[in-house]
Amino acid sequence: MTKFTSSHTPKLYNLPTSIFTIMSKLAAKHNAINISQGFPDFDTDPVLVELVADAMRSGYNQYAPMAGIYSLRAAICQKIELLYGANYLPESEVTITSGATEAIYSTISAFVSAGEEVIVIKPAYDCYEPAILANGGIPVFVQLNNIDFKMDWAEFRSKITQKTRMVIINTPHNPSGTIFSQADMLHLQDALKGTNIILLSDEAYEHIVFDGLSHESVAKYPELVSRSVICASFGKTFHTTGWKMGYCVAPKALMKEIQKIHEFNVFSVSHPMQRALTEYLKTPDNYLALHSFFQKKRDLFLEGIQGSRFTYKPSLGTYFQLLNYTQITDESDVALAKRLTIDHGVASIPISVFNTDQLDHKLLRFCFAKKDETIKRATEILNKF
Ligand code: GLN
Repeated sequence: MTKFTSSHTPKLYNLPTSIFTIMSKLAAKHNAINISQGFPDFDTDPVLVELVADAMRSGYNQYAPMAGIYSLRAAICQKIELLYGANYLPESEVTITSGATEAIYSTISAFVSAGEEVIVIKPAYDCYEPAILANGGIPVFVQLNNIDFKMDWAEFRSKITQKTRMVIINTPHNPSGTIFSQADMLHLQDALKGTNIILLSDEAYEHIVFDGLSHESVAKYPELVSRSVICASFGKTFHTTGWKMGYCVAPKALMKEIQKIHEFNVFSVSHPMQRALTEYLKTPDNYLALHSFFQKKRDLFLEGIQGSRFTYKPSLGTYFQLLNYTQITDESDVALAKRLTIDHGVASIPISVFNTDQLDHKLLRFCFAKKDETIKRATEILNKF
């Protein structure tokens, strides 16, 4: 093929391949236990699979409406009202998207213009910045400390300028496994008061919070709701990351703009899956039992590494656990993640790639959304390391 030449630099020319792609590929190549990328290695509920098959057999095989089928949007609004107290209108304030990632991209794309700033809390999940950059926006970082990953709200306030268009938060937080408290949410509410900054809240792990703590959804804070877009994931909640199903909710005026991006990018998402999810949501236990299911897996993982020299704070949410390896080696986290995969057969995610200036705090992220036997096999190896 002849080489394409152009005097223009493509928008994301310098963007590296995502660490999830790199580590999952490396794990496959070396036949390592893949507890890097966040997805379950066990199957979803056969009841849910059967509901999709039913929907297909019933003829729901053509386009769903652009925003998603009404019954699913209504079920989402009902769930939010029940859990967090906010009232969203199914007809104008919900969109079913291709995963939370599309919801996040569509939101950033709808509102962030060239030269506008977006505050991003680091370490940050890797889909925010490319979306900001692709739209000409400027990411402005607030780096969390590496001990307890607590937000410094004074620092956060100091990053707000006339050009701040949006703030992105993520609780439960990937990759640190920390969560925002009620006090955090009130600090945030106060910091944004009197501005017209849009808040994008990535709540993909809303149902995975441990130790009796509660998820502080933006939907619990009426003052925040009016300026916010909440993005959520069916993939993380129902063990169906491969379906790429998610949604976002926002006040009508914001949602109208998000839908303009969604409509002309994907138009609408899988119809039979929307039918199935509508039915499945009728049993609240399908999501309310999730935290205890994953807490057992977190505990199994932590028990498994008791004999190791890794140090940690137990994850409070998400299905990720960070381990600190300063007592074992001083090599970089990227080098160690690769060596663990190639030489020891366990793949993880190095945290520096999510930090400002690739700050390396000697932390690796492990996904415990795995069969118990997978967790045991992995922790046996980590224990000996
Ligand atoms: N959300 C998953 C994680 O954090 C990865 C998804 C992806 O690979 N894009 O590991």
